Amino acid sequence: MIAGNYEHAIRARAEELATVVVHGGDGPLPYGATDVPIVLSSAFRFDDAAMAAGAFQGTNEAWIYGRWGNPTVEHLEHRLAALEGAAAAATTSSGMAAIAGTLLGLFDAGAHVIAPVAMYAESARLLRERLPRHGITTTFADATDPSSWERALTSATRALYIETPANPTLALTNIAAAVAFARAHGLLVIADNTFATPFAQTPLALGVDVVVHSATKALSGHGDVVGGVVAGSEELVARVREYTVKGIGAVLSPMSAFLIERGIRTFALRQEQANRTAARLATTLAQHPAVARVHHPSLASHPQHALAREQMHAFGSMVAFEVAAAPGADALVTGRRVLENLALATHAVSLGDTRTLVVHSASTTHSTMPAETRRAAGIADGLLRLSVGLEGAADLERDVLRALERAWSAA
Ligand SMILES: *Cc1c(COP(=O)(O)O)cnc(C)c1O
Repeated sequence: MIAGNYEHAIRARAEELATVVVHGGDGPLPYGATDVPIVLSSAFRFDDAAMAAGAFQGTNEAWIYGRWGNPTVEHLEHRLAALEGAAAAATTSSGMAAIAGTLLGLFDAGAHVIAPVAMYAESARLLRERLPRHGITTTFADATDPSSWERALTSATRALYIETPANPTLALTNIAAAVAFARAHGLLVIADNTFATPFAQTPLALGVDVVVHSATKALSGHGDVVGGVVAGSEELVARVREYTVKGIGAVLSPMSAFLIERGIRTFALRQEQANRTAARLATTLAQHPAVARVHHPSLASHPQHALAREQMHAFGSMVAFEVAAAPGADALVTGRRVLENLALATHAVSLGDTRTLVVHSASTTHSTMPAETRRAAGIADGLLRLSVGLEGAADLERDVLRALERAWSAA
């Protein structure tokens, strides 16, 4: 819930998470180390035959082999579970491994999934093109309109997959409505919480069954690692871990686990600042004559601003805006000119980095989406997606305003 003054709300959220990000899920560490050792050993020595047999039977907790479990990775998983308010969390080699691994790990051939039209493009492609080869089919429905789920429902439906805010339009899904719909029809709700991050939203607390993340993004936060997370009940996470990590082998490396954990220690501080700057940029852009539309849940003009206040802790650090066509040019050309005139914001994919990143969605991240699907998902040709970083807010504001001015005066 976001009530009252936004500055106070995000400060309070950062304070709430401040101890969890440093100590959440901590257990004893070997050697008296205060910091988790990076254990690179791929196999672990057994003291005797009984210990080995017990490890395989699960009657003792001895480490066996890197794909089955690793102390550095487990340390991170405990912290991630604490951060997401989950009973358990498993890490994977990437966000896509978490998403594909959750669906393949939990469902058999013949299962049907309902997913949003507006979502991370590789997830959409997984559901549209790849999972049907394994007998898992998907109907895409407008997640901003819960009645569309009713129409997509079949007797084979097993899951409602949601992504809120959605990439890149920042359209919201009503999480309470999704959970109520799923309960009524015996479905699991799986939520991609990458865009919001646990700073801005905790879907498990609202009744969602499984949260998936790309840890590549704001959780690690420094743009130097690829990883994924699956969080939820002990039982569901164990099933995904068995299938995806042990079985398929989509395991996170101990080095990557260390980097993600190191990133998490400053997660609350980073998110507080990025969320503050994002709201400021959204307000500035919304008042600019060269900007046709700004998508950010903080704005009263966002069609689901009230819902954002209800189900989020903060409005997030992702901002999307549609550049208006400059005289004598179209929106796409003008949008590209803005991109090319940005000096501080880096033109690159990914998000949640310390540096501000910007992409033109239609020609890059969402270019694999069929054009009509892209338009149905609300991704305008001139849409630029901004992942707000940790630079000075005034410096970023100046950079964006200067780029807009140049794009227009070049006409
Ligand atoms: C990046 C991203 C993914 C995929 O994660 P990878 O770590 O790149 O595999 C999934 N969902 C969302 C919303 C993302 O931003």
